[in-house]
Amino acid sequence: MQYFSTNRNSPHVSFRQATLNGQPDDRGLYFPESIPKFATDFIGRLPELDQASIAFEVIRPYVGGEIADEKLHEICAETVNFEFPLVPVSGRISALELFHGATLAFKDVGARFMSRCLREFSDPATGRTVVIVATSGDTGGAVANGFFGVEGVDVVILFPKGKVSRVQELQLTTLGGNIHAIEVDGDFDACQAMAKSALADAEIKERVFLTSANSINVARWLPQQFYYLFAHRQLMTGGHGQVPVVSVPSGNFGNICAGILAHVSGLPVRHFIAACNANDIVPRFLESGEMRSQAAVATLSNAMDVANPSNFVRVLELFDWDVVRLKDLVSSVSISDAETRRTMIDVRDRFGYLLDPHGAVGFRALEDFLATTDGSGYFLETAHPVKFDSVFEVSGTFGEIPRSVSDLESKTRRSTRMEADYGSLREFILSIA
Ligand SMILES: *Cc1c(COP(=O)(O)O)cnc(C)c1O
Repeated sequence: MQYFSTNRNSPHVSFRQATLNGQPDDRGLYFPESIPKFATDFIGRLPELDQASIAFEVIRPYVGGEIADEKLHEICAETVNFEFPLVPVSGRISALELFHGATLAFKDVGARFMSRCLREFSDPATGRTVVIVATSGDTGGAVANGFFGVEGVDVVILFPKGKVSRVQELQLTTLGGNIHAIEVDGDFDACQAMAKSALADAEIKERVFLTSANSINVARWLPQQFYYLFAHRQLMTGGHGQVPVVSVPSGNFGNICAGILAHVSGLPVRHFIAACNANDIVPRFLESGEMRSQAAVATLSNAMDVANPSNFVRVLELFDWDVVRLKDLVSSVSISDAETRRTMIDVRDRFGYLLDPHGAVGFRALEDFLATTDGSGYFLETAHPVKFDSVFEVSGTFGEIPRSVSDLESKTRRSTRMEADYGSLREFILSIA
């Protein structure tokens, strides 16, 4: 499998090179030259397969033989070594709970897979590897956890000051060792801009092997297909074969784009909903045809406070930029903080299910969609409620607190403060190089 740049001004590369590069030099995104189709009996066989084997079959064509089958299967098993339960919430709506991994969010899947690919691909002879990642909260913890203690690799995590929750900050700053947490005086977009500048800095790249762990990296993006198949397996074994409407709380659009990719390969899905918060550039684009960017707005679902979703260009590629065809399969709505709050309270009271703010955006969009049609669906519950301080303010509880969280409380926090200025980041990277 070869990957091209969505800006079409960089050489085509293999999976290995795309993973190592992170982003093409022309600042586009890597995209597979062709979309593999699942074997004809693959969907029918899902109930017989375990999670690792499903993951392996999905990812294998994308890796194109650059990791030996046996090793790749092992990486898949380590990546999906936790539960992905599809939990009924109402009669027609289920939650696909993606928060049973190490840092309690779906990003654990991509981060675990990517860290293990980089371990396979990096060459100790070419010097230190520095992984740089900008996070609005969830990415950093997942990446830090995935890379912690990996020999020869340093991880630099940029997070916006005062904009990540208590639990997220603990997950980012308590590892130490090869994990460097940087608290940036700015928002997520500022962090992302700093990371992008570093990745384009030729002089830095001469000193260290620098790569990104943001959701634009193919090794993080592609494995996010796995749990859509796990959901389908549960729909099949649960006895009702209805093709679902799938609602995905969306910020940078990597997660939903992976779901659509799985669908293009053969996964039955009736409709996708990209459920956004007040950062509504995509809903407005699908309505007006005009892509007008605005500054990011801070919301309750802060992992989705993204002004310009990088991965949306990949969604467009999947439809050959045919927006009419895209709108047949995908709709997008914007859910306000007031609606999010109301939904969290309402779902707790009606069904006894505790939502986090991102899941609440997904639930609201799905219930609204199903109100005008028959059928059923699921939304992605993308993180555990305990990760967001607002859950306690709104719902009066965090639900059951997972062990991994209580263990963090006693650990020491370490981070470096920085202005939202690339010069300072540059110095920092050179200091650890
Ligand atoms: C990252 C994140 C999202 C948004 O996912 P994208 O792939 O950026 O669209 C949604 N919910 C949570 C909890 C997240 O951490």
